[in-house]
Amino acid sequence: MTVLTELLNALHDDFVEVVDLTTPLSEQTPIIELPPERGQPWAFSREVISDYDDAGPTVYWNNIRLSEHTGTHFDAPVHWLSGKQSHDVSQVPPARLVGPAAVLDASEQAAHDPDFLLRRDHVEKWQAEHGDLPEDGWLLYRTGWDARQGDARQFLNDKHTPGVAPDCARWLAEETPLIGLGVETVGTDAGLAGEFEDRPYPCHWYLHGAGKYGLTQLRNLGQLPPTGAVLIASPLPIVHGSGSPARVLALVDRGSDR
Ligand code: MN
Repeated sequence: MTVLTELLNALHDDFVEVVDLTTPLSEQTPIIELPPERGQPWAFSREVISDYDDAGPTVYWNNIRLSEHTGTHFDAPVHWLSGKQSHDVSQVPPARLVGPAAVLDASEQAAHDPDFLLRRDHVEKWQAEHGDLPEDGWLLYRTGWDARQGDARQFLNDKHTPGVAPDCARWLAEETPLIGLGVETVGTDAGLAGEFEDRPYPCHWYLHGAGKYGLTQLRNLGQLPPTGAVLIASPLPIVHGSGSPARVLALVDRGSDR
């Protein structure tokens, strides 16, 4: 039996579960709020082309309007000045869109401190328990923020949202074999990261500078094991795009607990 036949059988028999890590996209999807003097990304909106009506008696479809960074989305290296010479979203090698996921749960810390910043020693503690971060893999950083997705005010929380400390972001970018960081919040960086003195938006700066990627507004990370899940990210190949809304899935082995 080939590996793919085994996978299909496991999917059919529910020994491998497909977990959807994507937040449904609608007019209510929260978007990042930047200082008013900066350009702003668009929230999702749509306009009906036809709805089984005179404009198309048998057809329902819409035009949509959104930014490259609206809802669950993929950040490509060219999103940041530090990654300007690296991939745009259409240039990301497809093999890098499928890879192992390490899930670090800091939801308890973030519940007590919405400005919680992940430090290198937190990740090293995770490694002591679960092993090294995966080669060409993703660190999925769980903060419990997905529970707030239904309420934009709670989700954005007046910029008090968890993130990663600058020296940890640099270490993840430059010294680990990861290819990306996935988060539940509106962006990979903390809500207050624009005001960090040493390095504003450190995840964006260091990860993209190292040719690595970001994924945002993920949900259902609580359904994943700390190691062993396979992440599939599917951004649109927008030519010269800085990122793209994406469907993000995880394959999870449920064989051992059934
Ligand atoms: Mn983004």
